[in-house]
Amino acid sequence: MSYLTIKHVDKVYPNGFCAVKDFNLEVDEHDFVVIVGPSGCGKSTMLRMISGLESITSGEMILEGKKINELSPKERDIAMVFQNYALYPHLSVYDNIGFSLLVRKKNRRLIHEKVMNASRIVEIDDHQLKRKPGQLSGGQRQRVALGRTIAREAKLFLMDEPLSNLDAKLRGDMRVEIIELWRKYNQTIIYVSHDQIEAMTMATKIVIMNKGVIEQVGAPNYVYNHPETLFAATFLGTPQINLISGKLDNGHFINEYFSIELPEYKNINNMEVLLGIRSENLSVVKEHEDFTVKVDYVEYLGSKSIVHAYLGETIIAVNTKENMKDIEECKVKMNISKIILFDKETSKAIRGDEL
Ligand code: ATP
Repeated sequence: MSYLTIKHVDKVYPNGFCAVKDFNLEVDEHDFVVIVGPSGCGKSTMLRMISGLESITSGEMILEGKKINELSPKERDIAMVFQNYALYPHLSVYDNIGFSLLVRKKNRRLIHEKVMNASRIVEIDDHQLKRKPGQLSGGQRQRVALGRTIAREAKLFLMDEPLSNLDAKLRGDMRVEIIELWRKYNQTIIYVSHDQIEAMTMATKIVIMNKGVIEQVGAPNYVYNHPETLFAATFLGTPQINLISGKLDNGHFINEYFSIELPEYKNINNMEVLLGIRSENLSVVKEHEDFTVKVDYVEYLGSKSIVHAYLGETIIAVNTKENMKDIEECKVKMNISKIILFDKETSKAIRGDEL
């Protein structure tokens, strides 16, 4: 049995709005789960239900074999880091870190040990421990919030967009620190983000949500390469996956610009589809091209360039290392094994027969 099991969980708010529908998830011990999705898709609602701050309308949550639906946040032994840090402004940093131990009436020596240990891990020094949160920078406050969570030694750590208030540089640094903490201390973390890069770099398991529903769960690499829905395919990856409209018929993808043989789909006929292929699976070639595109502009990124071009009305992004200066047209070849086809009607990926 997994560490945390979430079964058929729904959330309907008192105004009748259904924010989460039939959420199912297995979290293993030492998993780093990242729930991602656009604003309003139900990520925070889900996290708050796990923490106990929000009630569950229906379904079950089981932590270490014990049903926790009806338990208060305190009884669940789950620690949560919020986006706005939620530090107590009138307390010193030291007391903030030790707060949950103080309210649990732990003895002073134990509290001191845990506060000092946690502050060492998150690199908060003795001077900073004496200050109030208002006298710290955003990044330092974020460390205090993490330190407070570490001092608690909870069964499960929940983090709701903890890095969203930080600038890009600090965000990158803190991301690395959180990953290191997780590796070192064997914690189990559920982390909410709307940032796909955070999800790809941190997660052992990624949960993509859309409009209250899970689109896909899996290892980041797997979901990136094998998206089950158009939403999952377009949510992960920069530039966004290329989508080319056409028809699947008799083992061929056909549109007005090109036709390619895809034998593993030979049993599907006359289906309107979108051909998905990521920019790194397209290459600029001199001959044997699959199609030709009209170059719109080239984005130089140092080690590579991305050619943004038109195939008819469709914008296509192609990675290349070639010098693409002053080029109006280019020939493009696809890595056919990386093509993902989506049924236009259902937006679901179509599986071909194994060859
Ligand atoms: P964000 O990334 O913007 O924080 P989110 O994915 O975390 O978004 P939630 O905060 O979980 O989204 O909200 C999900 C949906 O539920 C939203 O449409 C929101 O407006 C709605 N919602 C949240 N709280 C309530 C409430 N108390 N009553 C009614 N609807 C609510």
